[in-house]
Parts: sequence; structure tokens; C-alpha cells
Amino acid sequence: MNRFERNEVCYSMSAAHEPVGRVSPGEPFVVETEDCYSGNLRTAADFFTKGMSGNPATGPVFVEGVKRGDVLAVEIRDIRTRDYAVMSLAPGAGAMGEFIEKAETTILPIRDGRVALREGVEVPVRPMIGVIGVAPAGDEVPNSTPGEHGGNMDCKEIVAGATVYLPVAVDGALLAMGDLHALMGDGEVAICGAEVSGEVTACARPLRGPLPTPAVETKEMVFFLGSEPTLDECERSVLEKAHRWLTRCLGLGSNEAVRLMSLVGDLQVCQVVDPLKTMRFGFRKDALRLPEFRGSLADGFEIGSGLR
Ligand code: CA
Ligand code: CA
Repeated sequence: MNRFERNEVCYSMSAAHEPVGRVSPGEPFVVETEDCYSGNLRTAADFFTKGMSGNPATGPVFVEGVKRGDVLAVEIRDIRTRDYAVMSLAPGAGAMGEFIEKAETTILPIRDGRVALREGVEVPVRPMIGVIGVAPAGDEVPNSTPGEHGGNMDCKEIVAGATVYLPVAVDGALLAMGDLHALMGDGEVAICGAEVSGEVTACARPLRGPLPTPAVETKEMVFFLGSEPTLDECERSVLEKAHRWLTRCLGLGSNEAVRLMSLVGDLQVCQVVDPLKTMRFGFRKDALRLPEFRGSLADGFEIGSGLR
């Protein structure tokens, strides 16, 4: 299986980056990732300082047969993490900066599927991918920043079993990922999750059609994501995408879609601490009992399966 190593990294998403390798559509591959501190914090005595590069993403990987204008479907098959996480707090940083009295790096052991905050206080892991994206249409975007191309969306639903849908701006898409969290809550209010290095097993394939992106699908849910300077703008972005999907892809009338969204859609926050904030609008699949919805966002957009 193709394996991309954790030293094959980029710090921005850009059409100008040379791919570190190539994969075929549907071919599984492994991406080793470094943590968001570039592995610089190993003990409680280590701090992230100016001059260190953060948020490395492994890649970009060129996906054969993917053309500009396609949607890239990235299926996350497995996420493995190392056996400790790092959290680094700094006064003034993140949404809770005013509560942080002094800079503090904490090493949190991970054992038996639990992150240990201290002896006797352990919480179950839910490994997820913080940064996953493709080359954007315009200028390069640093990996600190989310956007229409994906990037630092910090969506806790990007777990093993999820599929991430991203818009392809250049042939081959140039997929990169990193910033794994063993666990993260909505908001990422301390500006860090349980930061870990690890390995992701994934495969990617092209779709063709007007599927709004970025989108994330899990076994039970579908989500449309948007990243904007304010939560008000994020809300507008994700509502528009969900409405566009229901009307344009599933054929609902405009008001009908609004009613359905108000009844069974959930407006949720991914993160409020990156240069742009990110929200998602989600539906439980079993609440979408529409004849036009066959159970996956990819349905109807598969290349070669009858295009809309
Ligand atoms: Ca992040
Ligand atoms: Ca992170």
C-alpha cells in the first residue's frame, strides 16, 4: 500500500506544491501525520515558540483521474494515533484565553482508548482529522486556515468511517492532511484538541456534479461545512449549502427545503479559534426519507454511474 511519511509535509494548500506521490482512484493509501506542533513538544518543559512551524499536513497527494471541477470524495478508513497527546495552553490564546493563568504544556497519556487528564479522570478517545484539504482555486492558504478547499476545519465528525467531499480546483486535487486529535469538542475553545501524531488510511475518488462542498458524511449523518470570519457568516454559508443540496440535488421546492431544514437539520459549531470560524449543518440520514435520497451524498454523482 502507498505510504506517505510524516516528513513529506506542506504548511499551506497550494496549486504550486509538487505532489509527494500519486494514488489511483479508490486505491487505499496510508498518510503518516505529525502533530500540529510539528512534534516539537515532547515534555511539559517544551513550549511552542515563534519560529516553529505549526500545522504540518502530509502531502500533497495527486489523485489520478481527478479533474478540475470534480468533487473529491475522501473516504477515511482508519485513524491510529500514538499513545500520548499534547495540549499547550497560552494566556490570551483561543476562546478561553482569559482563563489561562500561565502558559502550560501538558502531556496526556492515552491508554485503553482513553485520554488521561489526570489519575482517575479519563475520557474516551474519538480520533479525528483537524486539517484535510485540497489545493484552493486562488492563492495558497496556510494550514492554520479553513476555507472552501477544506483545510483547518477542525470538524470532530471527520472520524474513521467518514467521507469528506472537497471541491477540486486543479487536476489531481492535491490532497493533504494532518492535525489529528485523539479527541476534540465542538468549538476547540482552548485552540487545541488532544494533539497527536498518527496514521490515516484513506482512499479518494472523483465525483462529478453540483454537490455543495465541503461536506462530510458519516454512517448516520450528512453535514455541509462553511468557514467565514464570523459565526453569522458561517451560518449563512452552511444554510445556503444545505438548501442548495435539497433543492438542486434532491428536487425539493424552496419552502419545502426550508421547512425540512427547520425540523430535522442541526446547526452546529466546528471551531471558533482559527483565522476563519467553521460551522456545519447536519441531517440524520434516517430523517431524510425522501425518494430522491438513496443514503449517500455520493449517489448520483459517481463518475460513470449516470450523471445528473
Ligand atoms: Ca486545527
Ligand atoms: Ca489541532
